[in-house]
Amino acid sequence: MKKRISILGSTGSIGRQALEVIEKLNDKFEIIALTAGNNTELLNCQISKFKPKYAYAADINAIKGALPLSLEEICSNKENDIILVAVSGKIGLKPTLTAIENGINIALANKETLVMAGDIVMKKAKENGVKIIPVDSEHCAIHQCIKDISQVDKLIITASGGPFLRKSIDDMKNATVEETLAHPRWHMGRKITVDSATLMNKGLEVIEAHHLFGMDYNSIEVVVHPQSIVHSAIEYVDGSVIAQLGLPSMHIPIQYAITYPERYNGIKSKSFSFSEIARLDFEKPDMHKFKALELAYNAGKQGGSSTVCLNAANEEAVFAFLNGKIKLFDIINTVETMMEKHKVVQSPNIDEIFDIDNEVRTKSRELFLQLR
Ligand code: NDP
Ligand code: MG
Repeated sequence: MKKRISILGSTGSIGRQALEVIEKLNDKFEIIALTAGNNTELLNCQISKFKPKYAYAADINAIKGALPLSLEEICSNKENDIILVAVSGKIGLKPTLTAIENGINIALANKETLVMAGDIVMKKAKENGVKIIPVDSEHCAIHQCIKDISQVDKLIITASGGPFLRKSIDDMKNATVEETLAHPRWHMGRKITVDSATLMNKGLEVIEAHHLFGMDYNSIEVVVHPQSIVHSAIEYVDGSVIAQLGLPSMHIPIQYAITYPERYNGIKSKSFSFSEIARLDFEKPDMHKFKALELAYNAGKQGGSSTVCLNAANEEAVFAFLNGKIKLFDIINTVETMMEKHKVVQSPNIDEIFDIDNEVRTKSRELFLQLR
């Protein structure tokens, strides 16, 4: 039987690659819904090619060839076996919760969902018997390595180091948007590419891993691995380390997540050759240059609403940087200032999470005016 799937964010980097995977495996999937934000032109091309029943875009009147539904309506539609959440930013949280409440499995690319509300999301998933299968390559790697989480001592998350790994702090201070978006290994959406340059992405991934695998922050380590061949590893209690390797391609983790627990020869990158790769390097991250990582660990360890604050301040600051309003280092300064001011609410509910999110965004924007 075909797996019935919807893709939230089908016009984005992950969404487009997911459709390439599905095109290769077209006898395995039936597409229920595709959704876009502003790129209705691409959405309509996808609709005419993949023939989903439903679609969503910011301008619903511009949708051609599918019945327009809201994200919430798509996520409460039990025709879905699985929903790939590949929108970027906070917009992913509510639809993900709706899908979970309706017992629909999730392939989760949108890490902000777990950073904002990981405790609630994981609890609801358990209550509803829903699987959250990670798409993020590091978490997909860990998911593939783990047999029994109770025997795992440590998660080792790899980081490519981004475009500024070998640059000085001064170079980073004066970095343009173009330099920041020039990631050496991965072609991704703009928000996550900026996060990868500051290493905030790795910080968000540490928080994501904490929720997905229930590991304490002291048992999650980040190591810089510029070649991006080892996608992450776990260390068992007996000292055995299991890592997942592969050429850098998001097709593989996307395909793994949406076909899990099966594996197919769909989009396979060229065969892996240790001798061609020749060497793998690892080093400790420079926590002074990449302070975002430290801020994310601190937020995670504080728990409660701290990670909501971290995420909101970061997301607003990244947009401000991309729009030329602040400098690259102001992103981290903004997050640090907002974290210092934040009064932590323990176990916030969803309404409180969105209130805190809005408040931090407003205060961050006020701060940008002072920075100009
Ligand atoms: P993109 O920016 O490329 O795509 C984002 C998608 O979300 C687009 O389809 C966009 O629509 C849609 N979208 C944005 N805002 C809204 C909105 N308000 N309402 C509805 N839809 C909206 O992002 P990526 O694909 O790079 O990333 C998606 C998520 O996956 C992020 O959370 C990221 O952290 C995560 N991720 C991405 C990886 C990657 O390799 N790209 C790797 C690991 C995780 P439109 O373009 O039509 O406006
Ligand atoms: Mg990742």
